[in-house]
Amino acid sequence: MEDKLKQVAQWITTSKKVIVFSGAGLSTESGIPDFRSPGGVWDRYNPEDFYFQNFLASEASREKYWQMATEMYEPIKTAKPNHAHLAIAELEKLGKLDCVITQNIDGLHFKAGNSEEKVIQLHGTAIFVSCLSCKKRYDRDEIQERIKKGQKAPRCNDCGGILKPATISFGQSMPEKETQEAYHRSSLCNLFIVVGSSLVVQPAASMPLIAKENGARLVIINRDSTPYDDMADVVIHGQAGPTMASILEHVKQGSGVVV
Ligand code: NAD
Repeated sequence: MEDKLKQVAQWITTSKKVIVFSGAGLSTESGIPDFRSPGGVWDRYNPEDFYFQNFLASEASREKYWQMATEMYEPIKTAKPNHAHLAIAELEKLGKLDCVITQNIDGLHFKAGNSEEKVIQLHGTAIFVSCLSCKKRYDRDEIQERIKKGQKAPRCNDCGGILKPATISFGQSMPEKETQEAYHRSSLCNLFIVVGSSLVVQPAASMPLIAKENGARLVIINRDSTPYDDMADVVIHGQAGPTMASILEHVKQGSGVVV
């Protein structure tokens, strides 16, 4: 294990463009459940209730959606970045990060200290709410206050349009700019590090493939195996926090520096 950690540290040190690709597993140590682990979101909810088409279809579906979304927002609101988020933010400070491509909607990369321009949020953010008609943005907490006061499916103050957390639901189009940017950067990087993703949600899961096909080294750090483990240069089946913290230590100590 120690050899793998040192190897990854060495690649971080010597690669010009390093991408960290994060998934829900990065934030479980911060108390936010992922979707697919036992006890995760899919153990408690039916994925169909999250389909965008259903959300649009009826007031009753929107009320149900907001009920689930409210429950899921609770841990996000109070969560603190863990060792893995902090290590990734530290990589930016060390000038070692091309970007973070994240599937996460919890905003923890920013709480850890990563800057806005370094983080591509592929699936949007739960920290804001958008009007589907006029695109007005609201702070999530403001809308949650309204829900607390009895609104079941809140509407836009300006145009009366449907409000939805600014996340990308199943069946909703991916954000064009972010998706293009993520593909582009993935194709140009030298090192692509997956942290805490099952790599089954498309199109996000195709990014490691694009990186690999364009000559990058691929590292996968995930508790369980993924469909891409066989093509990775290093696979670490472990906890994101301690693993990233120890890789960062090796980077800082320069144990991986090739001279
Ligand atoms: P996923 O639920 O499909 O997979 C999470 C993976 O993380 C699993 O393979 C699991 O083995 C691994 N894992 C769990 N805890 C870990 C830990 N401490 N260390 C290392 N690995 C760990 O998540 P995904 O791949 O991100 O894709 C599912 C979707 O979930 C994404 O679209 C994302 O938007 C959404 N999501 C995000 C959050 C969040 O923002 N925190 C939470 C739940 C779901």
